[in-house]
Amino acid sequence: MSFDDGFNCPNCGAELSCKLRHSKMVACEYCESTVLLEDETVRKVGKSGVMAEEPSLFVLGREIIHKDESFLPVGQARFGYANGWWDEFWAIGGDGQGVWVSVDEGEIAIERPYPITVTFNPDALTVGSSVILKDERFRITEADTATCKALRGEFPEPIRIGQTYRYWHLSGERARIVTLEYSDGEFQASEGVWVDPYLIRSSNVAA
Ligand SMILES: [Zn+2]
Repeated sequence: MSFDDGFNCPNCGAELSCKLRHSKMVACEYCESTVLLEDETVRKVGKSGVMAEEPSLFVLGREIIHKDESFLPVGQARFGYANGWWDEFWAIGGDGQGVWVSVDEGEIAIERPYPITVTFNPDALTVGSSVILKDERFRITEADTATCKALRGEFPEPIRIGQTYRYWHLSGERARIVTLEYSDGEFQASEGVWVDPYLIRSSNVAA
C-alpha cells in the first residue's frame, strides 16, 4: 500500500488523503479521529476535538502569499493558553518544505523546523534571560504553557488533544524568532520571523 493512493480511516472507513508526503498524522474530517501514519500502516490514536469556526485569512487548502512566497495550509492545530488560544497551521511552502504559521489574532510568525542538539533545564528558562543557540544570542520574551484543543488536517508529527507543552519565544535580531517547546521530556525548536499581517494575502483574492 502507498499513502500516495490515499487510505482509509481505521475508525470509520472514510477515504483520507495526504497532500504532504512526510505527514505523520491526519485528522479524519468525518469521525473526528486522529490517525497515525506509520510505514505501511494506519492507526487510530485519538480524537481531533471540535474546532470552533473563526473568520480567518487562513483556511486549509487555500494558498496564502507572503511577499514572494506561497504557502498551502494543510493542517490546523489549536492551542489554548492563559490568554486564550492561537492556531498553528502546518503549511507547504513553494519549495515543498513544511513551515509552521502561528496565528494569534494579529500576531503572525512563520517558522521552520530548527534542529537543536542542546538541552536545557526548563525551569531555568525565564523571561528576560538570554540563550545562545548556534552562536546566536536570543532573549526569552515569552514563557507559557499551552494545551492542544483541536486538530484538523495533516501534520508532520503526532499531536494529541490534551497534550501540554511548555514553550518559550526567543527573540533575536531583526524580528527573528526561535520557539522552544518542551513536552514529554523532549525539546523541539523552530526558527523564523514575525511577519506583518498586512503583507499576507490569500491567493484567491483578486489583487
Ligand atoms: Zn474517520
